[in-house]
Amino acid sequence: MNDYSTISKSICEYCNLSYSKGLVVAHSGNISVRLSSELILTTPTLFSKQRLEPRDLVICDMNSNVLDGYNKPSSEIGTHLAIYSTNSDINAIIHTHPPYLCSYLYEGKLPNRDISFESQYWLKDLLLVPQFEPGSSSLSDFILSNKEKKALLYLLIKHGLFACGKSLQEAWWRTEIMENCSMINHLIDSRNING
Ligand SMILES: [Zn+2]
Repeated sequence: MNDYSTISKSICEYCNLSYSKGLVVAHSGNISVRLSSELILTTPTLFSKQRLEPRDLVICDMNSNVLDGYNKPSSEIGTHLAIYSTNSDINAIIHTHPPYLCSYLYEGKLPNRDISFESQYWLKDLLLVPQFEPGSSSLSDFILSNKEKKALLYLLIKHGLFACGKSLQEAWWRTEIMENCSMINHLIDSRNING
């Protein structure tokens, strides 16, 4: 196996960032990086994202077989693999349950993305996904059947966000900007309600 220590550390840092910003709680959320056309480095199932160590991560093939690591991959690895197979430009995926965004998704709504230059630029290529069981093959099938849309943000009704990028940093920017945009929309909505 090659040395993936830099990428592993980076995944752990973004996990910690997701946890400290309240975008994941308990053992929720997961992150993966495409190492090659056949290898994915990902977070393990049932681990808090607060203090994940590089040794906790798992390397899988595109059929979710574990090739290296002591743990089981995330139960949502199938969703990551389906997304990777839609677009060869995607090299990193961050899955979170951002509270402001989730409050919109609970009602099947999308926040207005026209609130800033950043949100207009980074929140394009978005796909609203109906409610499916997390990690299920029906969710993967839905993603694959919408392959031609080349989405970079998958917004799952009553679930959360899968943000993609050429790099972890891009996937993180999409995550952070999506939640910030949702928070601002929430403030606008509540001001409108309160007059
Ligand atoms: Zn989830």
